[in-house]
Amino acid sequence: MAQQGTINVTTDNIFPIIKKFLYSDQEIFLRELVSNAVDATQKRTMLAQLGEIAEITDTPQVEVVLDEKAGTLTVRDAGIGMTAEEIEKYINQIAFSGATEFLEKYKDADAKQAIIGHFGLGFYSAFMVAKQVDIATLSQREGSQAVKWSCDGSPNFSLEDVSKDTAGTDIVLHISDDAKEYLEQGRIREILNTYCKFMPVEIVQGTKSEYVDDPEGATDEDGKVKKVSVDVPFVVNKTEPAWTKKPADLSDEDYKEFYRDLYPMNFEDPLFHIHLNVDFPFNLTGILYFPKLKKQMDLQKNRIHLYSNQVFITDNVENIVPDFLTLLHGVIDSPDIPLNVSRSYLQEDANVKKISGHISKKVSDKLAQMFKKDREAFEAQWDDLRVFVEYGMLTDEKFAERAQKFFLYKDTTGKCHTHEELMAVVGETQKDKHGKVILPYTPNASLQHSYVKEATDRGYTVLVMDGPLAAHVVGKLEQTHTDLQFKRVDADIADKLIEKDEELSSALDEKQEETLKPVLEGAFPGESYKVKFAPMSPTAAPLVITQSEFMRRMKEQQAVGGGGFQMFGDMPDSYDVTVNANHPLASALLNEADEAKRASMAKRAANLARLSQGLLEGEELTAFIAEGFAQLEQA
Ligand code: ADP
Repeated sequence: MAQQGTINVTTDNIFPIIKKFLYSDQEIFLRELVSNAVDATQKRTMLAQLGEIAEITDTPQVEVVLDEKAGTLTVRDAGIGMTAEEIEKYINQIAFSGATEFLEKYKDADAKQAIIGHFGLGFYSAFMVAKQVDIATLSQREGSQAVKWSCDGSPNFSLEDVSKDTAGTDIVLHISDDAKEYLEQGRIREILNTYCKFMPVEIVQGTKSEYVDDPEGATDEDGKVKKVSVDVPFVVNKTEPAWTKKPADLSDEDYKEFYRDLYPMNFEDPLFHIHLNVDFPFNLTGILYFPKLKKQMDLQKNRIHLYSNQVFITDNVENIVPDFLTLLHGVIDSPDIPLNVSRSYLQEDANVKKISGHISKKVSDKLAQMFKKDREAFEAQWDDLRVFVEYGMLTDEKFAERAQKFFLYKDTTGKCHTHEELMAVVGETQKDKHGKVILPYTPNASLQHSYVKEATDRGYTVLVMDGPLAAHVVGKLEQTHTDLQFKRVDADIADKLIEKDEELSSALDEKQEETLKPVLEGAFPGESYKVKFAPMSPTAAPLVITQSEFMRRMKEQQAVGGGGFQMFGDMPDSYDVTVNANHPLASALLNEADEAKRASMAKRAANLARLSQGLLEGEELTAFIAEGFAQLEQA
């Protein structure tokens, strides 16, 4: 039988379109062909089990063979094979009409992205890199006739009977001149490693050298059998990756090993993992790993890999899993994630919503369980988990609710508190006169040491709120718990941080304050420092510079371009200088009759106060230090 025919398509020639459209993603042709070969191999296994075809005695493999001289790349399988009728049905009709329909559907702007994410453009993607494709195939069914189909990318094909020794299919690509890279072993290995690393049937490409006992049994001086180098077929993939197994069958080391398989360039072990396994109402398996995040949010490295039945699809899971989960590493395998729609539609897909909700719940359950089971270990990992948990709380309402059980506040002594525990400790002592519980916090306990000390000396618990999301987390927590207010330790003098009714009496009267005020104002530069007096403990600092919580948050928001404050132009800095009316320095200044001496004393005090807030810089700082050294010499 030999036959010529025209492929059933409406477009004259769709191959140039496919080719051009997908140019940047050309390499996926190999994924498509190899996964077809894997499918065919698995179908054969199934039919053999059903007793419809001969039993399988060998280990079926898929081979990728390069012939640089002939200019061909062959994908060979010992799978189910096809009869002439099946070629007609699956290759000539279905796939072609499928491809035109497909192009029709994705004509719009989103098209390219959709096509790239599309899985199952299938066999015809071969024409992205080949000027001619042959299929030589023999069906496993007894008494079948081998056939060869050939097509040069025009809508014309030929189909003829041939002789073929073994059942299965050879797909032979005559590589086009502009796609010669696909004749290089290294390049092909790289592509197989990306897309086929965990496919369920052994994939062989080329050979590798291995040292084995000499088959002739030759021995060396010590009488040991000599080792000789032999070339053995190189198997590219692991057919049973960890996520396809039961958690009970895996050790901790197995999980770590799989992590290294996934990210060979990463040298740090993950903190822990979650094994996902759902079969209703959708299919989902996978393993998610928690990396050590510290305070950074590196989204670019080691991203989650998305698979569909062990075929790699993409490492861009945006809109498939909730945003904060993209901080995790690992694999998700789900044939139920639609891959032939554009990314923007994915979010709206009911299945994807369910999947993403499920993963989020699994993750919070795992954290809650770890917290309950071994709190000490959980606390030890908290610094590495914190950014992740915070990101989740800020972007996923349900996660935020569940996180209340395990979100930890850390104070400056290193102690961790859940929300409930913290309220039990500070609920009364840190309640101000309006009934709000005030939580003093610091982004950096060491830099703000003097402020932290003033607050802890008063018995307050000072929380450490650091990391890239701290400001947002503070806002979020205040929103959730309306009886709470966070105040940075330098938002006011310690006595006023938490406003109470009682007041200390002042050593200065109004007139004395009026005398001192201009002296101190003159010691600070410009308009941005407002001087006022307050009675504090005589042992507290003589001058304290603060910035109100409100002003600081406005400035911070402006800095990140939020809050709509830009219309006011750049907000000037503004600080409060509180003079401790009860400090000996206040009376000393008052009693100093020499005006120049008094001004210089005030200036030094002002500089010291600014230095402690990191506000003394540049020339002023240099001059201040030089002056200090000079005085040492005189002493
Ligand atoms: P899809 O794989 O998405 O169905 P393809 O265009 O890749 O679309 O393939 C169309 C059909 O051709 C397959 O469903 C299968 O029946 C048949 N086919 C493709 N490659 C092989 C192969 N190597 N062995 C047997 N049948 C194959």
